[in-house]
Amino acid sequence: MPAVPRHLARDDSATRSPEFMAASNNSKYDVIVIGGGHNGLVNAAYLARAGKKVLVLERRYVLGGAACTEEVDYTSSKKALIPSQKYSPFELGFGKMVHLNKENFIGKATLEHDQKQGVARQFVGLEIDWTEVEARYETFGLTPAAPSQASRVAVPVYCGEKQVGKATSTTWSPVLKKMIALASIETSHAKIGTRLQMEITIEAIRQKVTAKIVKMPFFNPGRKTAVPV
Ligand SMILES: Cc1cc2nc3c(=O)[nH]c(=O)nc-3n(C[C@H](O)[C@H](O)[C@H](O)COP(=O)(O)OP(=O)(O)OC[C@H]3O[C@@H](n4cnc5c(N)ncnc54)[C@H](O)[C@@H]3O)c2cc1C
Repeated sequence: MPAVPRHLARDDSATRSPEFMAASNNSKYDVIVIGGGHNGLVNAAYLARAGKKVLVLERRYVLGGAACTEEVDYTSSKKALIPSQKYSPFELGFGKMVHLNKENFIGKATLEHDQKQGVARQFVGLEIDWTEVEARYETFGLTPAAPSQASRVAVPVYCGEKQVGKATSTTWSPVLKKMIALASIETSHAKIGTRLQMEITIEAIRQKVTAKIVKMPFFNPGRKTAVPV
């Protein structure tokens, strides 16, 4: 293929990447699209439909650019009123994005400490046992009510009698047909597969229902990262 003009890349890093070098020296492709945001993907799709051999290079682990979602829930440090409302990226599962080998920057010492010592809580996904929710509603003579939109009311999460965290967003997922929540849980209870109890309130009476820690993203079909051959 002809050499790809460097100015077509938004920044130089793309054209310096080994993937780009390997691809641009390879006559297999007619076009290389740098960035798998929706514009890049639409372009790539049209070009492919027109018979071109297209390669999309995306630096992130998921396609979609600004149109894809990271499941996260926290108070930004500017809005936090008390220390416990502040979150470290290591508590939010963003540790992989922290580059401590950079030169000094504000907060570096704290982040180094977090990385070395570990953090006290972890951001997790919960799947609530819907059969239990139904059973609880039934004891009140009510049909179960799934929230029509995400509730941002923080509710306690327990391990037995001990509170080990809080669910900060809860919703019914029509795609998964499950009730799910985002939660911040003590690290010692935050392993995937752990069964905890989340509080739900029916007729102003507090109930506990089983909530299992699951891997996020909640919805992660193979097609999201599939590479067509
Ligand atoms: C907070 C926010 C809210 C918005 N809300 C709306 C809205 O409601 N409606 C609307 O229409 N638009 C909205 N937009 C705008 C919309 O998201 C953008 O216009 C759109 O995402 C641009 O798409 P894109 O494909 O050009 O770029 P992006 O979506 O930015 O994708 C670029 C991709 O290129 C990748 N990339 C960058 N550099 C490299 C490299 N060197 N090598 C490999 N990959 C690379 C990036 O990782 C990214 O995946 C919003 C934007 C923001 C930030």
